[in-house]
Parts: sequence; structure tokens; C-alpha cells
Amino acid sequence: MDIYTKAVKPSDIEIPKNSVADPIFQTSVYSFKEIDEVDELLGGQREGYSYTRGGNPNYDGLAQFIASLENAERAVVTSSGTASLLAAILALQPKPCTIYLPREIYGGTVGICRRILGPMGYNTQWVDTHNLESLRNSLSESPSILIAESISNPLGRVSPLRDVIEVAHSAGCLVIVDNTFATPFHANPLEWGADLIVHSATKFIGGHSDVVLGLIAGSATTIRVVQEIVDVAGFTPDPFASWLALRGARTLALRMERASQNALTLASTLEGMRGVDRVYYPGLRSHPDHDIAKDLLGRGFGAIISLSLKGGYNAVQEMIHRLELVRFVPSLGDVTTTLSHPVVASHRELSEEEKQIVGIDPSIVRLSIGIETVGDIIHDFEQALS
Ligand code: PLP
Repeated sequence: MDIYTKAVKPSDIEIPKNSVADPIFQTSVYSFKEIDEVDELLGGQREGYSYTRGGNPNYDGLAQFIASLENAERAVVTSSGTASLLAAILALQPKPCTIYLPREIYGGTVGICRRILGPMGYNTQWVDTHNLESLRNSLSESPSILIAESISNPLGRVSPLRDVIEVAHSAGCLVIVDNTFATPFHANPLEWGADLIVHSATKFIGGHSDVVLGLIAGSATTIRVVQEIVDVAGFTPDPFASWLALRGARTLALRMERASQNALTLASTLEGMRGVDRVYYPGLRSHPDHDIAKDLLGRGFGAIISLSLKGGYNAVQEMIHRLELVRFVPSLGDVTTTLSHPVVASHRELSEEEKQIVGIDPSIVRLSIGIETVGDIIHDFEQALS
């Protein structure tokens, strides 16, 4: 063989099966000798891997992890939380229908419904998931889907989701629960009757701000449909991102335990702190959904706190300048404590009027609490707000 051929010739090293850490299958495709084998793999008659858009051991490892933690029959990994939301909607209702959204929901979810699905004929309507009577009267369209968050972005609203799902189902409406904020550490919405759960694994599941990924969990039958959409539409993630996320996810329970304890301590302290107008954390008695959160969530109340500052936008900007430990990061779920500004980041999709109805204005910041020593986070806010 000449040097050009030797240089590209694959090695014949056998891949060991007993490595303690999962190997990274950073390959877009596999090689075969038998045409029939490829035919059967692509046709779904045989289990295995052929082309990575349709499956990869690293996605499957992460999918198995989330299925186990969510007590789901199966799960699928996608290229982002946003792709998961879209794939979940298309799997449940592939033809234009009505999508019901609570007012308080991640702005990107509103964006998917209005900007992608709206022109395809889907119609979006706001509903109140805190008032079951009003919800019952609103759910008049069929077919339809309700999308709710187990802990909402950004004000930590917790709807009585067991009852909400029952009301939706009795109106023939399917339910997707975005479990990104609660994570399976605090909530398993399939147990409340949700038809599908989605996660932005970019956040707490990955936990280290180094991947953008999504997850969907549900029954084997529904996930089979989701899997086909992910494959055909190409919503598949990169193997290395899945590997990184699973590596991060191994400490999810420990991180969430620590972060939600930190969040409760910090939220209580912030309530009395100079310059703070209001603190929104479902673990506080002052939160409008505290009792529902106590009933619905387990092991605490999550790691997201929102607060409004008395001095409005200027005070928020000043606080960001003065914080030394806590960084302004338009995301959440990192091992460090970060903050974001919903009106310019997560909820910029909403009109001024819609933001006002939801109750988010430029004075509001959303904190994502990390696993540091809580005294250090408190000290940073004290010195910045003083
Ligand atoms: N769901 C929630 C609650 C989110 O906060 C986000 C992003 O911030 C998403 C979904 C979308 O996730 P991704 O950014 O991974 O697409």
C-alpha cells in the first residue's frame, strides 16, 4: 500500500466491551459486508446501528438514563430542548390543531407555536391552569394539546397538574409537560398522567453549560413515533454532546439536592435584603403556589429563584456590574449560580402587553442556583445590593 492508502486505512483494533466509562461513538455511520443487514437495520426489522441520524449508543445511553429517572417506558434524545418540544407536538398531533398554553411558560415554547406551527395552521390559545373551572371552559377545541411546565419559567408557578391533566384528558386534549426546571429529582409528571415529558437537557440534566440537548420521555408506543420524527426531520444530537450530558447527569441527584437546599436558604435571605422588592420561589410561604408545590413536588422546590428589584432595570444592571461570583448568563442549570434577565432573554418572544399580563418586567431577574457554599452566594448578593 502506498502512503495515501495507509494513511486513511481504518485501524483493526477491537473495541473493548469492559471499559468502565462509556466509550464515545463519534461516528456518523458503520460499515457492513451484508446488504441484507443494512436493509433490515434501516427497515427496523433488526436492532442495531447503521446511520447515526437514526440512532447511536451515546444517545441511547442518555435516553435509557432519563427513561429510568422519569419512570418512563422509553425516551429519545434530540439536538435541543426546543427540538424536543417541536418533535413532541408533531408526534402527538401531526395535523394542525389547537395548542393551549398557560400564560406563564418559556418564551421559546410560545415561539415554536406562533412562528413555526402558526403558519402551518396550528392555533395557539392562552389558558389559566390555576383555575380548573376556567380551564374546563377554555378547552373547547379538539384535537388539541396543552403544554405546561412542572415549575414555570421564570416565576416558579406550580399548577395543580394532576387535576389539570385530568381536566385536559376529559376534554380530549393531550398534555406535554416540560420538566426542565423540576427535573426528575423533584417531579415525575408521567405519574400525574402526562402524555409526554420534555426536557431541555442543556440545563440541569447536563448541568455544566457545555451542551445543547433535549429529551423526550413517554410510553413505548408514543416514543416510537417521536423517534421516527427525530430521525426523518434530523433533530438528532451529536454523539459527543450526548456523552457529555450523560457524564454530567450522573450527579443530577446530588447537584439538585444541594442546589435546591441552597435555593431555599438564599430565597429566604433575599426576602429581607435591601433593594429587593419581591422574591418568587415556590418553597417560600409567600409564593402563591407554595401549598400546591408542597403537594406536587418531592425533595424540595428546585433551584430557580426570581426576584424583582425596587430600582427597576437600572438597579438590575447595577447589581450585575457589582456581583463578583454570580455571572449574567442567559441560560440556567449550571453548577455555578448564574442570573438571567427574562424580558431580554428567555421571554423576549412575548409582546410588551403579554409580558405585563404574565407579570415580568425589566425589574425581574431569574437566578439559577448552583452547588457552591450558600454563604458565599449570599455574601455576593449582600455586597452587590448594599
Ligand atoms: N424549556 C424550558 C423551560 C427552557 O427554559 C428552555 C430554554 O431556556 C427550553 C425548554 C429550550 O431548551 P434549549 O435551549 O435546549 O432548546
